[in-house]
Amino acid sequence: MDLWICWPTNSNVICNKFMPDIVKYPDKFLYKPTEEVWLPLNEDHRTLIKDMIEAMYTNNGIGLAANQIGSFEKIFVMDVSNEKNNPQVFINPTIKKEAKEKLTDEEGCLSCPGKLANVIRPIYVGLEWICQHGKAQYKTFYHLPARVVQHEMDHLNGKLCIDYV
Ligand SMILES: [Zn+2]
Repeated sequence: MDLWICWPTNSNVICNKFMPDIVKYPDKFLYKPTEEVWLPLNEDHRTLIKDMIEAMYTNNGIGLAANQIGSFEKIFVMDVSNEKNNPQVFINPTIKKEAKEKLTDEEGCLSCPGKLANVIRPIYVGLEWICQHGKAQYKTFYHLPARVVQHEMDHLNGKLCIDYV
């Protein structure tokens, strides 16, 4: 999730360089599903990915979907590391497999500041995607990454965590 840690500090962040605004609820753009990225990646895609990673870190998020900064490209980024030095890029991601077992947990969202939602989700998901080097990837995500992946997949499909309640 692109996450709760952000709000207390958000209004105090002073940023001198250009930073795309986070699209916030109830902006209808967030409810519009994103579109498959036309490969191979071009310079615009690379710039977008760079902006997304920067926007995620600036706002203390651990994930961010492209439509949260106003792009319709089907891309999300995630970094669940403590050091915040391991951004992962997911292009045209698809959930291929999910656990039958589910868990409810609280989620926050950079697009819905001040709101928390209890969301029930499968405890693991198998995800297929294209990485920033254009290579096809597949991995099963568990625990927090599984939740972030599903939260960001919802964004890409035009759905928000606060709509689960
Ligand atoms: Zn979110």
